[in-house]
Amino acid sequence: MNATSAGVFALFGRPLAHSLSPRIHGAFAAQLGLDITYRLIESGPLELAAGLEELARQGGRGANVTLPLKHEVMALCSELGDAARRCGSVNTLTRSAAGWRGDSTDGIGLVRDLEDNQGVLLAGRSALLLGAGGAASAAAFALLDAGVSRLAIANRTHARAQQLAQACGSRATPILWADLPGLKAPDLIIHATSAGHVDAALHLPASLVTRRSVCYDLSYGRAAAPFLAWAREGGAQGVHDGLGMLIEQAAASCLIWHGRRPDTVALHDALRGSESNR
Ligand code: NAP
Repeated sequence: MNATSAGVFALFGRPLAHSLSPRIHGAFAAQLGLDITYRLIESGPLELAAGLEELARQGGRGANVTLPLKHEVMALCSELGDAARRCGSVNTLTRSAAGWRGDSTDGIGLVRDLEDNQGVLLAGRSALLLGAGGAASAAAFALLDAGVSRLAIANRTHARAQQLAQACGSRATPILWADLPGLKAPDLIIHATSAGHVDAALHLPASLVTRRSVCYDLSYGRAAAPFLAWAREGGAQGVHDGLGMLIEQAAASCLIWHGRRPDTVALHDALRGSESNR
């Protein structure tokens, strides 16, 4: 893959007003000595193709894509990386002579945060995944790649949990949300629904959490608060939000664009101390 040294980058999605991505990529660029511009481009699915063409015309070298565009953007890619193809979602675009290449760094971002930053060993652990959307799908494949032994998948729309489990292979099993009270408490519980963004209650049974549990919410700030409170109430050993995943998926995008992986430790500390994500 061609590494780029600098240039114009952007984030496409809606809403973007509170996005931390410009700050994260700005910090990486400063650390690596790169001269980049990172723009926020509010876009829904209908404006995306024209927006990407315009970015390319202006010399855009890469872009991130967030809600609600991660699946739709695949149709605009001339090439897809393995992770993007498997999970059906793209969050990183890189411009080449052929067009836009699409990659997904969400899954590796989650695994890096769990293993490298939180010290959670994934190999041989059992896990429950709540959700079956784009981020859940990226998480499912990455967790299984990291050696999770069994993955139960529950989703509001059960058919999507069934489809994802089938795509993931024999270590993944769909479970009805109504059957969660009967599930043996897993080592790891990953919350990957967007319920927290609309203040919807999840109704999770207390029996899922033990003092050995690690509970991780892909979202952060206010959206993660209900799940994290439920996990703490259950006495979970590890309770984490998705801010670390956000930083690590961006670091993986940075590696794709510039051929260099930034150090993320200082940024974790800076953003944890910042009011902007609370
Ligand atoms: P998505 O593709 O739209 O999927 C949404 C998921 O949430 C689906 O499983 C959906 O179930 C479920 N859901 C929505 N409303 C619900 C409700 N009221 N009750 C129960 N389930 C509900 O979204 P996504 O891209 O996967 O994002 C999911 C979450 O991950 C978001 O909070 C997002 O912010 C977070 N995320 C974080 C990072 C990071 O770097 N930290 C990266 C990506 C995503 P149905 O199938 O039934 O609709």
